Amino acid sequence: MATIFTKIINGEIPSYKVAEDENFIAFLDINPNAKGHTLCVPKQEVDKLFDLDENTYLELMKFSRKVAEALKKTVPCKRIGMAVIGLEVPHVHVHLIPLNTMSEMTFTNKISMSSEALTTLSEEIRKQLSQTV
Ligand code: AMP
Repeated sequence: MATIFTKIINGEIPSYKVAEDENFIAFLDINPNAKGHTLCVPKQEVDKLFDLDENTYLELMKFSRKVAEALKKTVPCKRIGMAVIGLEVPHVHVHLIPLNTMSEMTFTNKISMSSEALTTLSEEIRKQLSQTV
């Protein structure tokens, strides 16, 4: 059965998309650790990060860095944290999290954001990315 992320990639369910190219997509996490928590996902449906072929793995890191740079310019924070977990959704994804405190990397403290706030934020990150040469 297709993962929830494949359904997002196929446009079957909505997402707060921030970036997309031929092989990858990035969208806001709907249950964020912190404002700007973003997931970068290869379109290829593979469960575990280290099972990706080497090229897709390296390209995912490249894509994630581009998104992280735009995120850092959009959301005030000390730095962007990165994590790969995958215990909930068996489809590789890189978590990018704007950090001000260590607790924002715990995945137990969540913040609440309205749909309107998520939409506005995704637009701001997209705009920032479009200005990246
Ligand atoms: P994990 O698989 O443990 O790395 O966690 C999966 C992450 O995906 C969690 O942070 C969820 O909040 C997030 N998530 C699950 N469904 C969606 C969705 N439809 N849109 C955006 N994020 C999601």
